[in-house]
Amino acid sequence: GLPPAPGDLVVRDLTFRYGEAARRPALQDVSLTFARGRSYALVGRTGSGKSTLAKVLTRAVDVPRGTVFLGGTDLLDLDVEELRKWIAVVPQRTEILAGTLAENIALFDPDLLDAAGRAVDELGLGPWVADLPDGLETKLGEGGHVLSAGQEQLVAFARIMVRDPQVVILDEATARLDPVTEQQVQRATARMLHGRIGIIVAHRLSSVRQCDEVVVLADGRVVEAGPLETS
Ligand code: ATP
Ligand code: MG
Repeated sequence: GLPPAPGDLVVRDLTFRYGEAARRPALQDVSLTFARGRSYALVGRTGSGKSTLAKVLTRAVDVPRGTVFLGGTDLLDLDVEELRKWIAVVPQRTEILAGTLAENIALFDPDLLDAAGRAVDELGLGPWVADLPDGLETKLGEGGHVLSAGQEQLVAFARIMVRDPQVVILDEATARLDPVTEQQVQRATARMLHGRIGIIVAHRLSSVRQCDEVVVLADGRVVEAGPLETS
């Protein structure tokens, strides 16, 4: 199908349960608008529904027609494969494959190898890559150069950037990062989200601070949503 017009991501009166047997819905009466160009910190206790909401937005689970829209188009009217190009999820753990950094970013798609360098630049990672033994051609994985957890996340960001999605959902890793990597990740995150819709399942205070809005979930319900007050 045609790509959805660039626009907001809207959730309307959504109630979702994992099967009939579930005692209570994982999401209940959720209505939210994620506006283009803004970033949202999604917070809440464990089990509050954050990951479930992320799954809904990528159609990893089924929801009724008329509950989720991208640029005015019902998500159910979009091809799932295409949808996942427009709405990208940065996973909590990044798998590094045996191959060069460029191949890891392009996921071995030859059409995307050129874009790998551009993605690195757009994320402000040029200096980091220049410091690697062979730049973009540095071998990773089995027997190759070893990346830290934070650097693996940077690779995940670049993977997302080469596909130029409209929406980026980042389920943040809980692991502590060293200060240098933390700063690289924060900067790259800001660049990755620029002009897009960003949703960060935030486990770090620093990520919450750099978001425009905060959404708080509790027991599957939105209990707070609005601009982040920076005072
Ligand atoms: P965490 O901070 O621990 O990642 P979360 O906010 O992401 O938590 P969810 O994973 O969305 O929470 O879970 C919301 C509710 O849905 C919980 O009650 C959980 O037990 C339930 N749930 C999650 N995944 C499934 C599943 N695959 N099958 C059944 N119930 C599930
Ligand atoms: Mg979760």
